[in-house]
Amino acid sequence: MTNQESHEVVIIGGGPAGLTAGLYCKRAALDAVLYEKGLIGGQIAISKEVENYPGLQGIKGFDLAEKMVRQAESFGLPVIQKEVAGVAVGGEYHTVALAGGETVRAVALILAAGGSVRKLGIPGEAEYLGSGVSYCATCDGFFFRDKTVVVVGGGDTAVEEALYLSKLTRKVYLVHRRNSLRASRILQERLMSEPAIEVIWNTIITEIRGNGSTVEGVVFENTETGEKGESPTDGVFIFVGYSPNNRLVPPEIRKNGQGFVITDDKCETSVPGIFAAGDLRQKFANQIVVAAADGCIAALAAAHYVELRKGMREGP
Ligand SMILES: Cc1cc2nc3c(=O)[nH]c(=O)nc-3n(C[C@H](O)[C@H](O)[C@H](O)COP(=O)(O)OP(=O)(O)OC[C@H]3O[C@@H](n4cnc5c(N)ncnc54)[C@H](O)[C@@H]3O)c2cc1C
Repeated sequence: MTNQESHEVVIIGGGPAGLTAGLYCKRAALDAVLYEKGLIGGQIAISKEVENYPGLQGIKGFDLAEKMVRQAESFGLPVIQKEVAGVAVGGEYHTVALAGGETVRAVALILAAGGSVRKLGIPGEAEYLGSGVSYCATCDGFFFRDKTVVVVGGGDTAVEEALYLSKLTRKVYLVHRRNSLRASRILQERLMSEPAIEVIWNTIITEIRGNGSTVEGVVFENTETGEKGESPTDGVFIFVGYSPNNRLVPPEIRKNGQGFVITDDKCETSVPGIFAAGDLRQKFANQIVVAAADGCIAALAAAHYVELRKGMREGP
């Protein structure tokens, strides 16, 4: 016999995926808890304005996060402010190790730890986040219609986002620190044939400048000649990497080359009873609406799994 705390479902991560999973779990009358290590709401808590979540026409990210957590809590979801240090795969129960040494058990787990954008770490980047600095063209491109923007990066994402922005904005400057791009050949061909995009080679952005409320320009440096300069721009889109928060994912779970968790269409990982939802999962689009949909699917599939396990324990 053990006195260890046990639940039917433990959800890790309090972003849109985890909070939606929590809402659906509680509405399915499951004994579920959610652990969040930082700001409740995940990445949306730091997004200034959300304009593409259906039904909410323009809402501050923080307010949307607040609404999501209140809704989940209204159905009885305990949201516990604690970091999950790791997960151990088990048979009847999987074990969740909390930072500080405590452990809890769960029949099913929903991993919704999201991801993190890589930052440039230059002056002005944090100050103008949401006021001209963005890490998501799909989210913020609309605010830059007929304006001039700088895109930083040289991989597939940077090129795809530059192409997306070229349809909305007046001019896109793609700034890359090397003299060749890492992006696939087909994307490079599309980029080079787009007249609204100009590639600035061998260049880094060293500072983002503004008037205190919006971005007005960037300071750049040529990596070969060391020449420095300043150029006006209305926005800076940074695509220098995005990593899944996968430290807690046990080695038994299959991941792709970039570390995103591979699941089936029920959001179930390669380990039965462990589900992954949202940006942590390998998929085509990282958006709030997709993370919420994943949370719903993972919760419904976890409910089904818990029922099956119960049936197996109780027998015919
Ligand atoms: C600045 C910005 C603006 C954006 N704007 C938009 C937009 O306008 N529209 C849109 O659709 N999308 C937007 N996105 C993308 C969107 O926010 C993400 O796709 C979405 O938040 C993913 O949800 P998620 O729940 O999968 O992960 P996240 O939002 O990343 O949440 C994961 C949560 O898990 C927690 N966590 C991680 N590890 C642990 C651990 N070990 N223990 C406990 N908790 C843990 C994290 O603290 C975090 O709160 C934006 C993203 C950014 C960065």
